[in-house]
Amino acid sequence: MRYAILSDIHGNVEALRAVLHDCAARADAVVCLGDTVGYGADPQACVELVAERARASVGGNHEYAVAGRLGLEWFNRYARAAAEWTRERLDEDHRAYLGALPLITEIGDATLVHASPAQPEEWDYLVTAEDGFAAFASFDTRWCFVGHSHVPGAWSLGSSGPEHHPGCASLQSEHGRRYIVNVGSVGQPRDRDPRAAYAVWDVEAGRLEIQRVAYDVDAARRKIVQAGLPRFLADRLAAGA
Ligand code: ZN
Repeated sequence: MRYAILSDIHGNVEALRAVLHDCAARADAVVCLGDTVGYGADPQACVELVAERARASVGGNHEYAVAGRLGLEWFNRYARAAAEWTRERLDEDHRAYLGALPLITEIGDATLVHASPAQPEEWDYLVTAEDGFAAFASFDTRWCFVGHSHVPGAWSLGSSGPEHHPGCASLQSEHGRRYIVNVGSVGQPRDRDPRAAYAVWDVEAGRLEIQRVAYDVDAARRKIVQAGLPRFLADRLAAGA
């Protein structure tokens, strides 16, 4: 079984379509770690594609904001402007669907969560080595897949000690070790690589690869500007930051 693990699509349907096309030959099923909406110009198309294609999904802070389950005072001005814009473009059914997504779920021996498995509703970022190591006590599965920071990375814990791999591109699991992996962002990468990011997890082989997929960044940028969303949200797609 091979899962394509997508996170932080952020209303970028150009990036999402490119990733779904790329993963068709690499994975048997798709799962989604949240923030499917917010920032990009195509929230509805992204919600519908994910609802149709993903075998499991969890909600991110942007889903919860759009569904009215999280106050916008937690957001910076760009995120708030995008959340208000997105809320108006989704109908009642879509908002209800997003608000009903669980914060945390499991597939096989993996936990799926948008932010940290420790108190997912606090939306803490796993960034430093210590952030990741401290989170292992909060889940029981061997693997935990997260998003939220839009930067790929991996943390591992086992008898030979803790390991942190910022920017991790691939990993082969070892007996007796557990793993937290940030799969990066489909629709708004922030690791200075503008290509869409997602992960392929091969369960039997115990292998994980971060894939990068080129997509039509200019089309996604143009739509953001035409929609009247903050220009910064368009420009950062080109920089991948
Ligand atoms: Zn996000």
